[in-house]
Amino acid sequence: MLRKITDLLLHPSRLSSLVPQSIPCKTPISRRINPQFPPDSSLKALCIKGSLKEALLEMAIQGARVKFDGYDSLLTECVNQKAIREGQRVQGHMIKTRYLPPIYLKTRLIVMYVKCDSLEDARQVLDGMSERNVVSWTAMISAYAQRGHRSEALNLFVHMLETGTLPNEFTFATVLTACNGPFGLEYGRQVHSLVIKSNFESHIFVGSSLLDMYAKASRIHEARGIFDKLPGRDVVSCTAIIAGYAQLGLDEEALELFRQLQKEGMSSNYVTYTSVLTASSGLSALDYGRQMHNRIIRSELPSYVVLQNSLIDMYSKCGNLIYSRRVFDNMSERTVISWNAMLVGYGKHGLGRQVLELFESMRREEVRPDSVTFMAVLSGCSHGGLVDEGLETFNMMVHGQDIEPEIEHYGCVVDLLGRAGQVDKAFAFIKQMPFEPTAAIWGSLLGACRVHANVPIGEYVAERLFEIEPQNAGNYVILSNIYAATGRWEDVINVRKLMKKKTVMKEPGQSWIKLDRTVHTFHVRDKFHPKREEISAKIWELSVKIKEAGYIPDLSCVLHDVDDEQKERILLSHSEKLAMAFGLMGTPQGFPIRVVKNLRICVDCHNFAKFVSKVCGRELSLRDCNRFHHISGGVCSCGDYW
Ligand code: ZN
Ligand code: ZN
Repeated sequence: MLRKITDLLLHPSRLSSLVPQSIPCKTPISRRINPQFPPDSSLKALCIKGSLKEALLEMAIQGARVKFDGYDSLLTECVNQKAIREGQRVQGHMIKTRYLPPIYLKTRLIVMYVKCDSLEDARQVLDGMSERNVVSWTAMISAYAQRGHRSEALNLFVHMLETGTLPNEFTFATVLTACNGPFGLEYGRQVHSLVIKSNFESHIFVGSSLLDMYAKASRIHEARGIFDKLPGRDVVSCTAIIAGYAQLGLDEEALELFRQLQKEGMSSNYVTYTSVLTASSGLSALDYGRQMHNRIIRSELPSYVVLQNSLIDMYSKCGNLIYSRRVFDNMSERTVISWNAMLVGYGKHGLGRQVLELFESMRREEVRPDSVTFMAVLSGCSHGGLVDEGLETFNMMVHGQDIEPEIEHYGCVVDLLGRAGQVDKAFAFIKQMPFEPTAAIWGSLLGACRVHANVPIGEYVAERLFEIEPQNAGNYVILSNIYAATGRWEDVINVRKLMKKKTVMKEPGQSWIKLDRTVHTFHVRDKFHPKREEISAKIWELSVKIKEAGYIPDLSCVLHDVDDEQKERILLSHSEKLAMAFGLMGTPQGFPIRVVKNLRICVDCHNFAKFVSKVCGRELSLRDCNRFHHISGGVCSCGDYW
């Protein structure tokens, strides 16, 4: 399909030879020939009254006298009422009376079938048309796109181009929504070229769809480029670009743009607010989230459930569960998503008891839990150390008829048992799972073996992981952590040799921190940063300070065969430590520090951060490739298990 679009693009001559289709004929020929016939008006009157049944009766009585206006009224009413059987009768009547409907009426038939969710019938009408115009093609393409049948939508679009019909702004806007998923971006770019060639780029619908397509494909710069070029901005395009930033986790950019557009007088709808709340949650920006909440109250928007759900989520991610609960309690209507948001909130804060209580009331109110609910309850039990309750919930799933446990739920149980130190039980559980264990599940158990120093199972699990992902250096590091924790230094060296033999290369670690609107990147043993000397002096100073508070460098995190002093020096040059120290130097006391790392955070850096948070009285948030670590007062939200 991609090739076909390309072929058309490669031959602009072919493109320009395509003739634009005429606008549908509003005055039907049949009407012009027989102006003395009045019957259509009575049909129309019945349809306007909404009495479809009577109108159909009238149609039967009039037989072959029904003409364009009559059919048009009938079909319009069938569309309004989503009445497929009645619509079929109208179509049948046309065939029986040998009426030859013009393109316009055939397109109404397509729309009628689409409205009634009968895409096959709609397609049959389209395929049976001897003549089609851009409206009929677009009706069908849009039907496919809106229902997620992306390849059908794209195929039909290509087919339309091949027949020589030129797309209009609606066709482009529609087909672009189908450009998502695998290869979506490639198709999207092809359509974009066609948009440029057809001079539709600055059309507001087409522009909005283009930017939405790029934003959803994580091509935010391209999306922004289109947004900046739009001739007029409306709430849809503004929201699409803000949502694009928020979805990519570029929360500051999302909020920044929102502020700027507000100044320019942009109006907001509930989708805009939802995206802005997501961005506030990502930044844990409670103040900003609260401001948004006030603004939403002032804007007197109807209380959309989606918006309330985002508020629950925002407050919980910003660490204020009391406000989350207040929003939740005040909702006049709740969906399962509202319950899930609240359950996840309690779970993330380790409040296992509250999770279970809320789950109880959910069942009392007869709200059907979904698979996310169970995930939330299981992980709540896991974070809250409620092993029996977690297992009970899992059994409820296994024996209930509603929801079949998926591999993620099994993973949650492994996590639950592992965290609680029941490594043997977790291992036995994995062995009797109906699924092949994934690297994530083995990884979770390996983490448990590290925390609870279980060498035999740790060795077995590491073997499995070496088979599944031989090049993941992280697994070798954890195995050597396990050996080191039990004093088996010989084995630590063996792991190192094994890595050398398999030529496992550690992806170089990189960390980022944003200060004064600039993102600073740090590499391991950074030799290029202009402030490298001050930074390393700061790290040494910190390390001396926190050693007094009990910090011991975890030398097993270093797989190089060097002496201990050298190992400590290597540890202190890890990129996340550099970024943390830089953050501490560049921000006033009490300011939270946010660092992002490309790999899993190492055990020593995690420990280092915990001590720093306690000794320096700072909140640290570390986001690694797996999860968030919110560290304050010497304690991490992950419970030292990740
Ligand atoms: Zn480290
Ligand atoms: Zn942590």
